Amino acid sequence: MVIAIDGPAGSGKSTTAKYVAENLGFIHINTGAMYRGIALKCISEDINLADTSKMNHMLHLTVFKFGGGDGSELYMDGKNISSNINTVEVTESVSLISAIPMVRKKLVEYQREMANGIDVVLEGRDIGSVVFPDADYKFFLIADIHERARRRQKEMEERCEVISLSELTVELEERDRQDSTREHSPLKKADDAVEIDTTGLSIEEQVNRIVEIVTNTNRSKTRK
Ligand code: C5P
Repeated sequence: MVIAIDGPAGSGKSTTAKYVAENLGFIHINTGAMYRGIALKCISEDINLADTSKMNHMLHLTVFKFGGGDGSELYMDGKNISSNINTVEVTESVSLISAIPMVRKKLVEYQREMANGIDVVLEGRDIGSVVFPDADYKFFLIADIHERARRRQKEMEERCEVISLSELTVELEERDRQDSTREHSPLKKADDAVEIDTTGLSIEEQVNRIVEIVTNTNRSKTRK
């Protein structure tokens, strides 16, 4: 079974997807982390984004795997990169890199392979619209921009990083703009996705809403 959770940055996707997967005993795939991994590689290997043959070579050699205690840690080429992909540098470049068609093609293939034949919760920007248009369940999370900035600030504080709410608001708005206006697979709600506004909801409430919809409709499907 495939559960797709899409939405803009800071809408609560990652934490929600992680707990929904844990609750249902599914695998969690954070596709944003994979795009961040590619951005990290472009930065650390100083890859010129216009050098298509180098980009192609790098994409073909890159191996991703989710693991660690709760399965949420991302390994790239055998190395745990989870603590290296949320830096300001990666965040600032990821939307530019994820708009490159070659990058999207490779990662979409990868995500489909990873999810093949298993029960999985995938979160990202284009899961319900492009990666799994036939997903069993599709959710689109949204939240007020100030709330999203506050959540980001809290996450960053936990990593001892200090940034003002106004700077975070500008960063989130800019990333939303780039992600939703790009030519290939822009961030957009699939027509058949259930929209959940997470402003003012606790993580537990967000998770319960999704788990209830999945378990209730699944039960009635099985009963028929
Ligand atoms: O989810 P997160 O904010 O970590 O995603 C980082 C970036 O990766 C997004 O801003 C977007 O540019 C890109 N992304 C994407 N498609 C996905 C997931 C993430 O383009 N399915």
